[in-house]
Amino acid sequence: MQAAQDERTVQTNLDKVLHDKGLRTTPQRKLIYRIITATAQHVSAQQIQQELEEVFPGISLPTVYSTLELFTQLGVIHKMAINNGEMLYDTGWSHPHAHMRCKKCGRIIDLDIPPVTQQDIRSAAEAGFSVDSGDLLLYGLCKECAAQESKSATV
Ligand SMILES: [Zn+2]
Ligand SMILES: [Zn+2]
Repeated sequence: MQAAQDERTVQTNLDKVLHDKGLRTTPQRKLIYRIITATAQHVSAQQIQQELEEVFPGISLPTVYSTLELFTQLGVIHKMAINNGEMLYDTGWSHPHAHMRCKKCGRIIDLDIPPVTQQDIRSAAEAGFSVDSGDLLLYGLCKECAAQESKSATV
């Protein structure tokens, strides 16, 4: 896969999605989209704002938030809440998936299993609750951090 080609596809998709809704592809929207697709798959609004500032000095956090909200509504990205109430924007897979959070480096890694199982939905239904969606977040150590820990343990 070629990076240049990916970028073109990505840009075309954003143009199309926005155009279908009668919205304009502004340079800011374009750049925000490029940042979230190019960087880590799970980023916070603050991280995006910091990167944006290099190109658009003084861009405000509310502007970033409203663009991210727009992208979320359009289904371009997904929003997920993590334990301390922080919101992260997920630009990875478009299908629902679970996540793993490393307690040492804080990285969030995609895991290709359903975040809600049929069993969960059945159990909730038995309790009289009808499920729309759910998040599954597993905690532990990522490969790199686990390797570091075992190294320092043997010293
Ligand atoms: Zn880690
Ligand atoms: Zn994800």
